[in-house]
Amino acid sequence: MSRPTLSEPLDNCSHCPRLVELRHTLQLEHPSWFNAPVPAFGDPKAALLIVGLAPGLNGANRTGRPFTGDWAGDLLYGTLDKLGLSSGTYDQHLDDGLQLKGCLITNAVRCLPPQNKPVGAEINNCRPFLKEQISEMTTLKVIFALGKIAHDSVVRTIGAKLKDHSFGHGAVHHFEEGPVLVDSYHCSRYNTNTRRLTPEMFEDAMGLAKKLAGLY
Ligand code: URA
Repeated sequence: MSRPTLSEPLDNCSHCPRLVELRHTLQLEHPSWFNAPVPAFGDPKAALLIVGLAPGLNGANRTGRPFTGDWAGDLLYGTLDKLGLSSGTYDQHLDDGLQLKGCLITNAVRCLPPQNKPVGAEINNCRPFLKEQISEMTTLKVIFALGKIAHDSVVRTIGAKLKDHSFGHGAVHHFEEGPVLVDSYHCSRYNTNTRRLTPEMFEDAMGLAKKLAGLY
């Protein structure tokens, strides 16, 4: 049972009964898959924290690394590469040698939710891990939230009010103290297929987060 830091749930975390049930089902159906809370990936001395929604079935839940092996990962890792925030080549698996530079990726919910939709209680149950992650990152300057669920969870983690901080693509939120929050539409297949989010829009929002984090 690995637990490198308090920011990571135990492999057999039992906080969310629905997610535990799904995990157990998948452990039987796909014993070679990761099927556990997916740990953060990247540079522990990061200035930029990227917060996604939750692992995807055939992506992070299978491979064990956020966004790795699914549609959203192609755009996310491709954009990180374009902006010089990674080295090596993203090849959709854990051992592709990819390294992140100045940034770290995690999810608001660490376990795979049915239909990719965590319920409120599951987001709340996982928030202490996000809170711990943020407080462990002594060099953190900017959080880049992918989608409204990640945005809301970050705002609640920081202890600010949602009514004072509405989600908006490219919006920048300042708090009394701590990191700045930059929002983006989630880089999901749905958002890109519908052109709510284009690769250019995503690169612009991530570029803004990178600049505010002082990464050049
Ligand atoms: N994979 C993740 O790890 N997070 C997401 O939000 C989507 C896909």
